[in-house]
Amino acid sequence: MKKYTTALVLLLGLCPALMGSCSTPQERKKAGEKITADVVSLSSSAPDSPGKSPSFEYGPKTFALIDDLDRLRGAGLSLLQGGDLEVFEKLGTIFGNAFFVGGKTPVLEYRLTEGVVKPKSSKSLAMLSSMYQFDSLVNELDKISGISASEFRTKYGDFQVLFQPSIVLNADGEQVRKYETTNAAYVAGARQFALFKTSDTEKIPLSFNPQIISHEFGHSIFEYSFFDGKYQNCSIAEVDAESNIFKGRLELEYIIRGINEGFADFVSFVWTGSSNILESSLGQNKETDERNFYLSTFDYESIGRDSAECKGQFYCVGTLFAKALLDVYQGQNFDMRNAEQRKLFLRNLTGNIKNTGARLRANDGAALPEPDDDIVRCRIRQFRDSFTDEKVLGVFLKAFVESLPATERGLYCSKLISRFGASGFPAQYRGSCS
Ligand SMILES: [Zn+2]
Repeated sequence: MKKYTTALVLLLGLCPALMGSCSTPQERKKAGEKITADVVSLSSSAPDSPGKSPSFEYGPKTFALIDDLDRLRGAGLSLLQGGDLEVFEKLGTIFGNAFFVGGKTPVLEYRLTEGVVKPKSSKSLAMLSSMYQFDSLVNELDKISGISASEFRTKYGDFQVLFQPSIVLNADGEQVRKYETTNAAYVAGARQFALFKTSDTEKIPLSFNPQIISHEFGHSIFEYSFFDGKYQNCSIAEVDAESNIFKGRLELEYIIRGINEGFADFVSFVWTGSSNILESSLGQNKETDERNFYLSTFDYESIGRDSAECKGQFYCVGTLFAKALLDVYQGQNFDMRNAEQRKLFLRNLTGNIKNTGARLRANDGAALPEPDDDIVRCRIRQFRDSFTDEKVLGVFLKAFVESLPATERGLYCSKLISRFGASGFPAQYRGSCS
């Protein structure tokens, strides 16, 4: 952390004092030349325990995909600065039903010293550092998820990073323009990542923290696998209350939103070696501790509206799922500090999640319970409803276990049962466990 702070002081403090060197005419990167820039990124060694925050460093890194520095784009990835993001539905860090307009080619302030791009403002540092993470994630898409980056690109186009858009929240027909201060989000269905202005209270700003960026990227892997690349919005006119499956049904389910968050946290662990997703930005407190799934101890029985142990609503379901996955990872004797092994595990997991989504949609959602009163009205439920949620969780876990190779089911079942217990993973859904 100290390393980073010092670097930032050097960057922002000394540059104005050395105005001469800052304002010299820029050299230009030649076409085809790999771009190397000073960015904030993860240190190469994983934390010695996954419950700890990773460490960060400031220094030169080479981009794999981005080859157009002035527009910050490359194969499969681009960035737009500014613009308006109109949000109709916000589910945690996922914006369902959101539309982006405008946005410009980024204004990057830098100088080039011995071939290395040196950002000249905190905004340029943020753009370069966040794009370095996205560049690495897209470049390793195949390796971490089994999804071919080129096939993905042909089917869906580029991933787009929206840098500090103005956000328009559209609630009950009233538009409220506001500038978010401390977050990053995934715009479901559009394969866009929105990064907002940083706040003074963040240590490593959320908008370029590799732990947060990989979490948001995890949502796009979940969308591709679980939702088969089609994240759909619920529309009352298209709801068929007689059917178990209609547009947006699974997307709105409290349990599925939780599983999506847990999967995204697990992707972040795979990327960084740490399950302590938030402390590096937000400091240690009760909220950041309860997301730290390596260390959290609550179980499914103890979460809910008045829970003292986990107040994060559907995120708590996700934390239990991520914890069970980590238990399995350890149970299979994988090394938590070995990035290659973590990626291999995630590649298999992504395939299982894809298979699980397909099973739940099969035969018009025959496996699913009836949708609840909120969902048939396309409404998001913020709190747990035991009656509905336990059935949805049960069928999800049943389909998830059925999607696993037979040899792995025993271990998964024992870990899922120990986290979700008799009410989260009731006996009637455990048929394929034995
Ligand atoms: Zn999220």
